[in-house]
Amino acid sequence: MTTAPAPLPPGLAETLLELQEQSPLLVALFDARDVLCHANTAFREAYCVEPDGLLTWADMMRDNHAQGHGALIETSDIDTWLASVSSRRGKLPYRAFEVDLCDGRWLWVTETTQAQGWMLLVASDITSLRQDNRSLRLAHVRALAAAHTDPLTGLSNRRHCMQMLQDVLVRSETWPLCVAALDLDGFKSINDRFGHGSGDQVLCDFARQLQASIRREDGCARIGGEEFLLILPATAAPQAEAIMNRLLERVRKARPLAEHGELSYTCSVGLAQAIWGESATSLLARADAALYQAKAAGRDRICLAD
Ligand code: GH3
Ligand code: MG
Ligand code: MG
Repeated sequence: MTTAPAPLPPGLAETLLELQEQSPLLVALFDARDVLCHANTAFREAYCVEPDGLLTWADMMRDNHAQGHGALIETSDIDTWLASVSSRRGKLPYRAFEVDLCDGRWLWVTETTQAQGWMLLVASDITSLRQDNRSLRLAHVRALAAAHTDPLTGLSNRRHCMQMLQDVLVRSETWPLCVAALDLDGFKSINDRFGHGSGDQVLCDFARQLQASIRREDGCARIGGEEFLLILPATAAPQAEAIMNRLLERVRKARPLAEHGELSYTCSVGLAQAIWGESATSLLARADAALYQAKAAGRDRICLAD
């Protein structure tokens, strides 16, 4: 039996705020849209940011990369880097990992995410801890990230997507839950007309459109050649349908090839709301069947599973 917690002493919130401000620990709070809403001095100094009520985590990382300060981001393609990190960010109630800063410091970062979307980041400086096996640990972290990532788009791959799906299917706070199976329409003819490299550019454009349409806690994966899957926790079918309608609209407007400004493309969507106790396999099969219906009904549309 759980007992109600004792009432909080007056002034506790103020004291907590004051103490975390003084602490050498890095403390930051992000809202459901990933806007940095609070950061203590240690965090602001390490990441070279001033929260202004608009700055998102992605903005912060872009700035750190462009300016060569704050977090050390070793990539020549920041969009794919952001896609790859976003595919692991905020999907679980808790995770922890190491981060390098440009100034040579090294942090142990923890992220605690509420079902409503608030995320608390607390990090400690572990530079002075034993460096033994550090390169081995970093290699392990990189290998794990690579094993979860689709190299072309930076999205989750099929394996990571299946792990995420198994995880959300048993977490009651993520219900209702929808998955969307997506497939580009007539993609073979884009390859045939413009070449495989241009086809790849269209796939990357689609990955960006998907990411722009979803929330941080949603799963987003490329599970096959031109086949993608979205996992939408805490979302019922009508809401998922509205999100997918906005996505289809975005995709119709996209012109992904700079050298062929006339090329537009579309995609079809099969949407299924999970039934409590249903297996991942059955849920995906229903979404796939709905996708097949969307194709048969003329493409560039959404079909809802039975
Ligand atoms: P539908 O509207 O029925 O989905 O037609 P479609 O042409 O999109 O489907 P189909 O399955 O016939 O063709 C998919 C094509 O996707 C065939 C394959 O060559 C291409 N493809 C698969 N993986 C990749 C990739 O990584 N890059 C590129 N450029 N093309 C790929
Ligand atoms: Mg296909
Ligand atoms: Mg296709």
